[in-house]
Amino acid sequence: MTSEEMIQLAKECGFDAMGITEAENLKFMPEVRDMCAAGKCGAYNKSWSCPPAIGTIEDSYKKIKGYQYCLVLQCIAQMEDDFDVEAMQDAGERIRIALEKIVAELKPKMEILPMGCGGCRLCSKCTYPDAPCRFPENVFPSMEAYGLMVSNVCKKANVPYYHEKNTLAYTCCVLYK
Ligand code: SF4
Repeated sequence: MTSEEMIQLAKECGFDAMGITEAENLKFMPEVRDMCAAGKCGAYNKSWSCPPAIGTIEDSYKKIKGYQYCLVLQCIAQMEDDFDVEAMQDAGERIRIALEKIVAELKPKMEILPMGCGGCRLCSKCTYPDAPCRFPENVFPSMEAYGLMVSNVCKKANVPYYHEKNTLAYTCCVLYK
């Protein structure tokens, strides 16, 4: 698929903003992993979709080997104020659904590696670490979990990380060849 077709598909799947960068621009950073380990979101060592279960920074580089492009995708929360939880939840749900849609469209056509936004919430309680993941095919670990600094990736793809006042951008991506 051409870049134009990918962008068009992203719009049709419900994303608000999107751009493309080369996969070689992705830099996996131990510093991002350190933020996970510091318990910033509370999911560290609690899910198969998060560090340390997802693997090392070196594993992240191995996983993207062979991919040429990274389609960066956003859904943007339009908030009334900084505490507009409803708008944030809405954008979080929209990006989850939009990512599922684009993965369903692309997967039969090409090899892809989707990276999600936030931790996996498919099960009410993750099986980690006592039993294998229930739905490994449907789990898309977040960009941060892989070790990406999302603002850097957005910059490379010419997608704003900060949009206008009272907005919050949720970002995910899909690597493809
Ligand atoms: S699908 Fe379930 S078991 Fe697998 S990572 Fe997500 S919450 Fe955990």
